[in-house]
Amino acid sequence: MAEFFDEGGRVSVLTTQGIDRLLTYRAPEGGCWEGAFVEVPLGPRKVMGVVWGPGEQGFDASKLRAVIRVLDVPPMRAEMAEFLTRVGDYTLTPMNFMLRLATRAPGLSNPPSMRKIYRLGHHEPDRKTEARERVLEVLESQAHSAFTLKELAEEAGVTSSVVKGLVKLGAVEEEESPRDLPFPHLDYTAPGKALTGDQAAAAGALRDGVRSGTFGATLLRGVTGSGKTEVYLEAVAECLAQGRQALVLLPEIALTSEFLKRVEERFGAKPAEWHSGVTMTERRRVWRMVAEGGAQMVIGARSALFLPFRDIGLIVVDEEHDNSYKQEDGVLYSARDMSVLRGSINGAQVVLASATPSLETWANAQAGKYNRLDLTSRFGPAVLPEMRTIDMRQEDLPGNRWISPTLATAVRGRIDEGEQALIFLNRRGYAPVTVCRACGHQIGCDHCDARMVEHRFLKRLVCHQCGETKPMPETCPSCETEGKLAPVGPGVERMAEEVAETFPDARVAVLSSDLFASARALKAQIELIAAGGADIIIGTQIVAKGHNFPKLTLVGVIDADLGLQGSDLRAAERTFQLIRQVAGRAGRGDVSGLALLQSFQPEHPVIRAILSGDEEGFWKAEASERQAAGVPPYGRLAGIVISAPDLDAAMNLGTALARADGPIVQIGAQVFGPAPAPIARIRGRHRVRLLVKAPKTAPLQTALRKWLANMDVKGDIRLSVDIDPQSF
Ligand code: ADP
Ligand code: ZN
Repeated sequence: MAEFFDEGGRVSVLTTQGIDRLLTYRAPEGGCWEGAFVEVPLGPRKVMGVVWGPGEQGFDASKLRAVIRVLDVPPMRAEMAEFLTRVGDYTLTPMNFMLRLATRAPGLSNPPSMRKIYRLGHHEPDRKTEARERVLEVLESQAHSAFTLKELAEEAGVTSSVVKGLVKLGAVEEEESPRDLPFPHLDYTAPGKALTGDQAAAAGALRDGVRSGTFGATLLRGVTGSGKTEVYLEAVAECLAQGRQALVLLPEIALTSEFLKRVEERFGAKPAEWHSGVTMTERRRVWRMVAEGGAQMVIGARSALFLPFRDIGLIVVDEEHDNSYKQEDGVLYSARDMSVLRGSINGAQVVLASATPSLETWANAQAGKYNRLDLTSRFGPAVLPEMRTIDMRQEDLPGNRWISPTLATAVRGRIDEGEQALIFLNRRGYAPVTVCRACGHQIGCDHCDARMVEHRFLKRLVCHQCGETKPMPETCPSCETEGKLAPVGPGVERMAEEVAETFPDARVAVLSSDLFASARALKAQIELIAAGGADIIIGTQIVAKGHNFPKLTLVGVIDADLGLQGSDLRAAERTFQLIRQVAGRAGRGDVSGLALLQSFQPEHPVIRAILSGDEEGFWKAEASERQAAGVPPYGRLAGIVISAPDLDAAMNLGTALARADGPIVQIGAQVFGPAPAPIARIRGRHRVRLLVKAPKTAPLQTALRKWLANMDVKGDIRLSVDIDPQSF
């Protein structure tokens, strides 16, 4: 039970700013509850914080400052405080960073209930200027949001006088103290689709789990198109029927619109949405409604896991293997793993859905920690595509050409039948390397350890690490010979050129995340393809993620070997997942699909496993390799990345750390490195990495904390800890 603190009593407050420890204040007039969001003085500033518990008694009471006010925000629940604490402990993240993650909704400290807000009025203005139109458009498209003057003007990109003008005309109404509105009710009693035997069994098991009201985690494994979404929507219905809230995490914003439509068809209304494409005003509304219970269901990106659910009963992580669930900036956490933690704290069911699960999840199911449900066939007449390799050693291809005659013939056959073909290459841009034919120099980024990628569409060279761009030079920066710079290797833009030459009559659509200025434009392109508005699609990995293109029957993978090189222990798993996902795009309609993989090493075990479809065999082989190496999920791993503008400074600290490894050795762990990090230089900062490998049951975080506490990280040097790094 939350504790109440009387006026003047001592409370400790966790703030979003300042130093990483709790600060003691006097409770405000009227007292406050534990968990209350408050505003407190911190030096000359006012900052937001949460009442975390009783304050320290040691200080002179007269020197204590008082909490300024309790904010009109639903208090933080004990489960949320525990969740933040445990994620912070696990990832070695300071608590004020954790609090920031949990309060990423603007205007929380100044809710609209205390201000004037603006809504659509009843009169049309006589004279519609472009600026006025924009204001009305914003209000129309977000009819449930309560805007302040500043928010509305900002979102419409106009000055506040435009809004005030519309108020005078009665086209916009100004209200005194209203609040954000709840989301429309989702009708969970509406029946879903009639399920097949397999689907019904899986849905039944998930419903039982949700009904139990306790924690449990389930791997929902099903080939693409087998109806995983239909099945877990049944679990959502059960959860809503229990009066609890459901969260569905998706790996890619571009997938949300299709998903929203499905939810609307099923439950009669759209759920709340939470991701970077959602406006600030709407985010504040979602945050409040999730806390107050005015949102039954949220779909969102990984950060939705930190929303203040009133009572969460189900978390679905769709495409759980996707590496976008690992946050690689700021707080380094895996949303997949943390959703299981959140579920265990809240007594919620967690469903991890995928056609190609991560090895971690597969192993947890294998060990009996997670339940496992399998959907083995595609729904309806759709069958899994046949897969074959094209042995590139046998193909006759001129230079600077990548579509083999065998693949070209297959594509021709499909498009002549009015079907779609996908050419898959996981490389953005025109060419990955630009080389000088005179001296062999390759153009690199000035700030990173990376080659610049030519983007002909943008007419620039782009660094995919740091985003730096520069125009294509006319002379070689090294030998200064003119006109000798040449593209080497293919990117999707170059494939588009080859496709246009080979199939001049075909309608071609390129799907690559960087070619679209906005999420909306990307969505439009996806809808166009789904509606049959293209014959040949050329795509990067963005097409691998769950899209449904009914006319697509052929997938050609240009370079199936890409990703097999390198020493990363996860490379095989990633290649396996990616190619099986991409192949799964073919044949989701009535016509059966075919996937052709161009490879120079068709006998490679990973390529063979992809073809044979023997997934259990593949996972077992992968598992025994990881077991032998003692790495996750069979051992524990942490990366310590040290970065500095000066390589020696970073190296020196790394070496000093490696020598002072006492606390690490004590738990039976080993330190490797320092060595250049997987990306050795970003934005002018050199990066070195140490890897710490510990036995599965070792108290790794405690040892890391002790170890790092002794280190003096000064000046320009930065150190970050990455528990369970993605590449090792
Ligand atoms: P997955 O999530 O496994 O890729 P989906 O749930 O998206 O599969 O299902 C693939 C397609 O088949 C969707 O268009 C879906 O509506 C349809 N579908 C799946 N199961 C059924 C069912 N029992 N009845 C009708 N349509 C279904
Ligand atoms: Zn760069």
